[in-house]
This record gives sequence, structure tokens and C-alpha cells, in this order.
Amino acid sequence: TSTDRITRARERDRRHVWHTWSPVGADRAGPMYSHGQGYRITDVDGREFIDASALNSTCGYAHPDVVRQLTEQAARLQHVDLSISSHELAGALAERLASYLPGPLNRTLFVNSGSEGFDAAILMAVAHGEHTGDPRRRIVSFARGYQGATVLSRSLSSLPRSRHPLRAPLPVTQVELPLPAHELRRPEALPVLLEAFAGALAADPDEPVAAVVVEPFLNVGGGVVLPPGFLPGLRRLCDDAGALLVVDEVFTAYGRCGDMYAVRRAGVTPDIVVASKGLTGGYSALAAVTATDAVHDGFAADPVIGGLRYGHTTSGHAVACAAALATLDVVEKEHLAERAEHLGAVMVEALAPLTGTGEVIDVRRLGLIVVLEMSTPEAATAVVDRARHGGLLLRRQGSAVLAVPPLIIDDEGVALVLQGLLAAA
Ligand code: PLP
Repeated sequence: TSTDRITRARERDRRHVWHTWSPVGADRAGPMYSHGQGYRITDVDGREFIDASALNSTCGYAHPDVVRQLTEQAARLQHVDLSISSHELAGALAERLASYLPGPLNRTLFVNSGSEGFDAAILMAVAHGEHTGDPRRRIVSFARGYQGATVLSRSLSSLPRSRHPLRAPLPVTQVELPLPAHELRRPEALPVLLEAFAGALAADPDEPVAAVVVEPFLNVGGGVVLPPGFLPGLRRLCDDAGALLVVDEVFTAYGRCGDMYAVRRAGVTPDIVVASKGLTGGYSALAAVTATDAVHDGFAADPVIGGLRYGHTTSGHAVACAAALATLDVVEKEHLAERAEHLGAVMVEALAPLTGTGEVIDVRRLGLIVVLEMSTPEAATAVVDRARHGGLLLRRQGSAVLAVPPLIIDDEGVALVLQGLLAAA
């Protein structure tokens, strides 16, 4: 019977799957899902939820255009190795990404995850100094930033989940948030925050800074919205110090922040941008490391291959590129970036009255990333649990509750998310 099948599936999972970021030994009675449609997802017991928890959801579940293009590409040519050849979609996608970004950001290296993207970006940034006769190794980052799980990417962070004695052999200066998260989004926070970065850049004159690496929105670090003017201010500081600016748009790009990229919205030209999640909307694994021509062209000086010594067998996977192109078509045709900005504003307006009631200490957003900051992580967990009971999936990062609906969510869906949030908070 189907009950037996589900029991067996749960048992196999419990015995054999090593779940990411999960405690050992806990009886993971966590949900097991079976299928989805739009912004709804159904578990194996047939219970339906509204999903505002998937950080990478652009087109929601089972979007017919994405499914069709991805399937057709798998049937035509699943992939070829980009280190010795190419397929048509790699160029089509790289050109599309360049069209969304400021002029000099013209060259995209494809990898499979955000973490790999940062390994590549840091290799690029450190090599760039060598190529220009100005070798530098130090990296400046947010202590509460999260760029990934690899040894190199996790070395930029001091979040408890990132800390590890095995660290990249690079000097890293980490900037602590100079104000509480709920104060950082205010314009008055800008000089304080920039001062902290200026101090980090100047911290060790014997180790000049190769790159400053930041997220425009600290996701894992607690749903932190940064003050307006942060990226332009940081660009100026980097220019003064001769450091590259590397922006982590793994979460924010492709509509989520209310624009195709947060850097475009801020009018800033970084040297390297790493983006991933929304690019395929979860239909495949793909990340894009887009660099300026100057960073790219410098690799002609590499002594071994005259290029970047980095890549993976599945870099720029053709099926993933098909999913990305289909996703971006939907984002453009349905104006999902503008819609994200509008829906985020609608949601915050409805939720703002919660501020100061119960355990809610702040309501904030970037695009369609809506954050309820609670007084403690336990209070945030309680909100997520209550919402789940009511059929709404949310996300917790520290003491922040994040509502991240797919960008294709309609007005009715937004009303349901709001209803669930108001009941749970
Ligand atoms: N950067 C940010 C802002 C993220 O949110 C994440 C993932 O959660 C990463 C980087 C790492 O990406 P991945 O999980 O694809 O390795």
C-alpha cells in the first residue's frame, strides 16, 4: 500500500541519507515532500503547504516553460565539457547575464553552487594582484556573512556554522556589525558601517587587501538589511585602497531584491559578482561568477595554462543553462523583479503594525525577502512552527523569520502568506 511505501521511504532516509546541516541521531521526522505546483507543495501524506521558505524559488514548482526547456535540452544534449568545448546555451546565458550587469562585468564562469563560486572568486581576486604586479592576499568580509561551506568560502565567516579549525591560508579581516541588525537598515547607520570597513581595510598595512567580499543582504547572518548607499560607499573605499569589490548576489539576484541584481539597483560596478539560487529557481544546480574583462584578461599571464586553473566537470551544465534561460525569460516577460518590489512593499505594510507587539522587534525587507525579527531565536522558531501548523512554510535565520515566496506568487497567494504570518507572529 502507499502507507507502506511511505514508511519504507522514511526508514531508508533515516538510515542512509546524511542530511546537510543537520544533527546526527535526531529522529528526523522532518517533512518529506512529494510534489509541488506554483507556490504550493504537498508532502507524502498529502498535506498541502504554501511555500515561502525556498530561498531559490523564482518560478515556483512545476513551471511548464522551465520544465519543457530543461527536458528538451536533456533529450538533445545534456552537457559537454566547457574546458575543451562549448554548447550553445553557455554563451546565450553568459551574454544575458552581462546584459543585466554594468558594462565591464562581461565574463561569466559557471560553477554548480554559491560556495564554489566564492572559491573561484577569491582565486580570481588574489591572482588579479599578481597579474597587475601588486600582489595582495588579505580579504575583508562580514563576520556574520555567509559565502558558503567549502574551506575557502567558510573562512570568510565567523558564524558558528562556518567556524572550523581547518581554514584557508589567507589573512581575513572580518567586520562585526557595528549596530544591532534592526538599526542597520536606517540611513544613519551608513557612516558607522562604512567606518567599520575603512578600519578593516587599514587594519594591517603589511597585508594589503585583495578583495572586500559582501552580501547586499545578510541572509544566514540574520536577515540583515543594509543601509541605502552601502554598496556605493564600499566601492569608493575599495577604489581608495586598491582592493577589488566582490558582491555575493547568490540570494539577491534575478528579481529577488526587486531588480535583476542588487548592484544594478545600487548603480555600482563591482569587480566580481557571484549569483546562484534564483538563476534556475531550483530546477538545477548552477552558479555564475561574473567578472570584469580586466579581471578575466589578466589570466593570460598565468604561467601554467595562460588562463584560470579552475572548473568542474559539470560547470555550465547544459540542462542547468536551459533551466536558467527559461527562468530568466519568465522573470523578464512577467516583470517579476518589479513585482517582487511591489509585493514586498505590500507585505511589509501589512506586517509593520506587528513591530513592538509580542516578541516582534522589527519588520523589514529587501525586495521580496520579508523579515520579522523576533527577540530570540526560540521565538523565531516558535513562529515558524506555528506557521507550519497552519500550512505556511517559513524560514528561520538566527532570530529572524524570513518569508520568501516564489516570485511568481499571485495576489491571492500573498494574502495567504500574510494571513499565516499574522496568525503565527
Ligand atoms: N551566499 C549566500 C548569500 C547564500 O545565502 C548561500 C547559501 O545559502 C551561499 C552563498 C552558498 O551557496 P551554496 O549553498 O549554493 O553553496
